[in-house]
Order: sequence, then structure tokens, then C-alpha cells
Amino acid sequence: MPELRQNFFTKEWVIIATERAKRPEELAAHRAEQTLPSFVENCPFCPGNEGKTPPEVMRFPANNGEPWAVRVFPNKFAALVSDAQPTRNLQHLRRRVNGFGFHEVIVDSPDHSTCMALLPDVHVARILGVFKERYNALGMDHRINHVTIFKNHGADAGASLQHPHSQIIATPVIPSQVRHRMHEALRHYDDAGECMFCHMVEQECEDQTRIVLKSELFVAMEVFASATPFATHIFPLRHMASFGEITAAEISDLARVLRRTLAKIYVGLENPDLNFTIRSAPSDYVGARHFHWYVSVIPRLTRVAGFELGSGMFINTVLPEAAAEFLREVKVEKGVGTS
Ligand SMILES: [Zn+2]
Ligand SMILES: [Zn+2]
Repeated sequence: MPELRQNFFTKEWVIIATERAKRPEELAAHRAEQTLPSFVENCPFCPGNEGKTPPEVMRFPANNGEPWAVRVFPNKFAALVSDAQPTRNLQHLRRRVNGFGFHEVIVDSPDHSTCMALLPDVHVARILGVFKERYNALGMDHRINHVTIFKNHGADAGASLQHPHSQIIATPVIPSQVRHRMHEALRHYDDAGECMFCHMVEQECEDQTRIVLKSELFVAMEVFASATPFATHIFPLRHMASFGEITAAEISDLARVLRRTLAKIYVGLENPDLNFTIRSAPSDYVGARHFHWYVSVIPRLTRVAGFELGSGMFINTVLPEAAAEFLREVKVEKGVGTS
């Protein structure tokens, strides 16, 4: 029988359509084997082409003879620009703010052919360290109210360049989706006297049916009321509202959990396009007791259709418990990114 499930956090309902249920492997991308070269002469993110990007904000030096390990620079085609002022303007019901903000590109590796699922854990930790540094630096600007870190992997996920990279956008406003979620989390904290995420994580770890993998400090799980197949969340076990609070030990542990999660998706679903985002509290909420940051990994396996657009309610054809079981079984210790 189909089932409606409500997301404990967003309060959104989804339809888990078991009548149309697909076996997880039926959704695999079946992408023709594509071997990218490790260097592309006209790629602006490849080593030697540093002059084709705007001036660097920072770089993580390499120790293996490569010119660098990770690079950060402003997006050449930035959605928002840092030389505007976030002046607000209200005319009748029309509210505007000048397009102030920061939009940076993080090149994950000098190797054009790789992706995060294939990188060594220690390199993923370097990238996460760069994320933290930029996240905190941009959040320090008093004109910035929210910082989003995200990755688009593949054309269907919005990537316009193949070279592996991540992005960070810092905005002068708090997005209404974020504000709504903060309100729900605060309401739960006021009602129950606890962080709703700490409670959920504890319950999911006990229940185990949606757990993909667990380490000492993080847990990766399928979402109970998942709007799309294989939506996977990674939570720190320690309560933290802001990603900016992550410690060095937690970065190493998250690198391993994130990389293994991405590798399971890469192997099991045959390298689907995907997005991941770090969902952190707005910049001024460091230390908040009601919110808990996490990483959201969304493989792009299905398309949004009319019902979703008309209702905001999604139909998911893969049981989250079946997706979790499927990912648990995918072996990634050997063969993929084990170096
Ligand atoms: Zn490249
Ligand atoms: Zn918590």
C-alpha cells in the first residue's frame, strides 16, 4: 500500500508509492563508461591555467609535486558581487536588495578526471578544511546572513564544467526555506526542551533500518520521509548548530564518511549526477541549542513533474529502507578511492 510520510523537520508530506516501487538498482544511471583525461588544455580549472580564473582567495598547497591541492577564487560568472552594498528598498509590496554577496569556486583537485567519490579520504579532509575556513571567513562579514556550501556533480545537477569543483554562496538575506526550518527547530526546542535532530539521530541509530554507515563521530542515513530516491543525510553525532564549529578530528571522520557515502552511490547507482549541500545554521547562530547542521546528498535520479510543481508534494518510488539496505551492501573498501 502506498504511504504518506511527513518530514519531522520541514513538515512536508511525501508519497512513498510502493505500488510503483522500483528496485534501487533499476534507477542506476547506466552511464556509458566515460574516462576523462586528467588534464584538459583549455579547462580553466586545470593546473597551468590559473591565469584564466579570477585572482585566488586561497590555496591548499600540495606536497606531491602538484602545483596545489585545492584552490579557491571568486566565480567568474558570480550570482552575487562583493562590491555592491546590500541596501534594502521597499516600494509597495516590492522588496529589493542590491546584489551583494560572495560567490566562490573551490577546485577540489588539480586532476580533471577525478570526483570526490574517488579521492583519498585525506584529500577530502583538505577540501572540508577549506570549506570550513571560507565558511567562517565569509560569515564574519556583518553584511552576510547566510552561507551555503554545495556541489553540483554532472550536467543534470547543474554542473557546467566537468573539472571537479564545489561552490560557496554567501547572501545578505536568510533564505525563507532556512528561516522556516529554523522556526520549526526552535518550536520543537521550546516544546520539548531538546534538539530535534539529536533526538532523531539517536532514534535512527537505535532503529538501524535507514542507517547507511556510522562512524565514531558521524552517521549517514536515508531520510525517513525522503522526497526523492536515495536522499541521504550525514549528521555529526555531537550537537553543533554551525558547520563552522567542526573540529579537526571531526573533519577527518566526516571526510571518510562522506567519501564512502559518495563512493557507495557512485558504485551502486553507477555514477549518477548529484548535489550535496551543507545545511548549517545562519552565520549568527553559532552555539545555538535548537539547530544541528548536516550534509544533504541528493542523487538526481528522477525528474520533477507537474504534481510536484503544483503541490510541493513529492512522489518517491523507492522505499528509504530499501535504499539504505542497498547502499549498506555496496562494497567500496576495495577498488574505489582506497588510496
Ligand atoms: Zn580541468
Ligand atoms: Zn542536536
